[in-house]
Amino acid sequence: MESAFEPTEPNTGEEFEPVDVFPDSDDFDLRPGSDSCYKCSTCDTNCPVAEVDDEFPGPKFQGPEQWRLKQSEDDYDIDDSVMDCSNCMRCDNACPAGVPLSQMHNTARGEYVSEQMDHLSIEYWRNRILSNYRTSAWLASKTPRLANFAMNLGPARWLMEKTMGVTKEREFPEFATETFREWWDKRGAAAGSKERAQAARRERGLPEDADKKVAYFHGCYSNYNTTEVGKAMVRVYEHFGYEVVVPEQGCSGTPMFANGMLEDARRHAEVNVSSMSDLVDQGYDAIASCTSCSMALRQEYPELFDIDGIDDLAANTFESIEYLRIHEDIREEIQAAEVSGELADEFAYHAPCHSRNQGLDRQAVELFRELDGAGIEDVGESCSGISGTYGWKAEKYEKSMKIGDEMFDHMEHAEGETGMTECPTCAMQMEHGTGYDIRHPLELVEAALVDGHAV
Ligand code: SF4
Ligand code: SF4
Repeated sequence: MESAFEPTEPNTGEEFEPVDVFPDSDDFDLRPGSDSCYKCSTCDTNCPVAEVDDEFPGPKFQGPEQWRLKQSEDDYDIDDSVMDCSNCMRCDNACPAGVPLSQMHNTARGEYVSEQMDHLSIEYWRNRILSNYRTSAWLASKTPRLANFAMNLGPARWLMEKTMGVTKEREFPEFATETFREWWDKRGAAAGSKERAQAARRERGLPEDADKKVAYFHGCYSNYNTTEVGKAMVRVYEHFGYEVVVPEQGCSGTPMFANGMLEDARRHAEVNVSSMSDLVDQGYDAIASCTSCSMALRQEYPELFDIDGIDDLAANTFESIEYLRIHEDIREEIQAAEVSGELADEFAYHAPCHSRNQGLDRQAVELFRELDGAGIEDVGESCSGISGTYGWKAEKYEKSMKIGDEMFDHMEHAEGETGMTECPTCAMQMEHGTGYDIRHPLELVEAALVDGHAV
């Protein structure tokens, strides 16, 4: 006899129709992720923006709740509060159910900007200019001394706040008089790197043709501003016998994701994926010195775009110190080294939010703990508050500083008066909040391991 409780049409799974995150968006199916949310609110309690801004509804609303509303109402408009999320991605990390929150936020923000935002508004153009930092930096790099002088004049900063809504409270970052790529070309580019890497291999007793080659994704900031980070990356990798190549590249897209400029981000991603994945096919690994760039290449690209080679690139992308910890006895070399000169210092280290998402937040502290001549102290788990372009917006400046307060306080209580971090915009915030000089971990590795006369 047939049981009353027996399903007459067993669920074979065949009727499951993939559903877009939001209609008209890229065809990524987020229904399973959304269904996994059991409303524990852990994401909300870990959101630094929600902590300082009572009006911000938090990641749970921006993600699964809004997704459901969008599914049930044909004419549902994305809530404009999605523009207040800084894309720190802490909620991703915090969610115990693996709900892809930042993917949902990025997609919703992209739809909001393309369909609901007034494209003639000052806010739209301000956000577009801020998120296309590479274009402004390229222009400034043509006359860096003039740009450094003019952009930091009081009246210029005042005017930028009044007309565009870019805060006058922050100093513009200094542009290098020679870009990283100019330096790279002058010292012989890939051919020069190959010679130096072969010499290092001979010294290490490795075969000259050892398969050690990496493609460096320097990002905008190491190219136009802190070129010493890019130079340190190259010298450190050559020290370990790696041939470095520096392929054609655009912006990683990180500031564009945070501002909902997904079409701009896609254009840059297409350039990056094409050049970097060709090299991955030839056996290169992709290395980024900025944790937001490695985050974009590893996680955001495959979450948001469908481009040939994107998954291979994501699987073969590493952060610069992470890669050396996996493949080399860097810890042993650091333990045997001693730092003197400018980098012989005590460092107050801040782990960027995007390094936490990649599980890299403890690596600098672990690496340098036993280095002679330098000390390092972790200043805690709080967010720096700048989140790329977020803290540059006049209406968000105060919130950004409020979020950063805990980090500033811990830095001031740490022994050192020099900061350290892997993220260039966290570095800006650390410097702005404390007045300290900020260095990248690669610079300390270089000071410890590489001959001071290296070109
Ligand atoms: S990405 Fe950061 S700011 Fe945005 S909702 Fe998540 S935790 Fe909050
Ligand atoms: S942490 Fe995850 S499961 Fe909990 S409310 Fe947020 S999205 Fe839902």
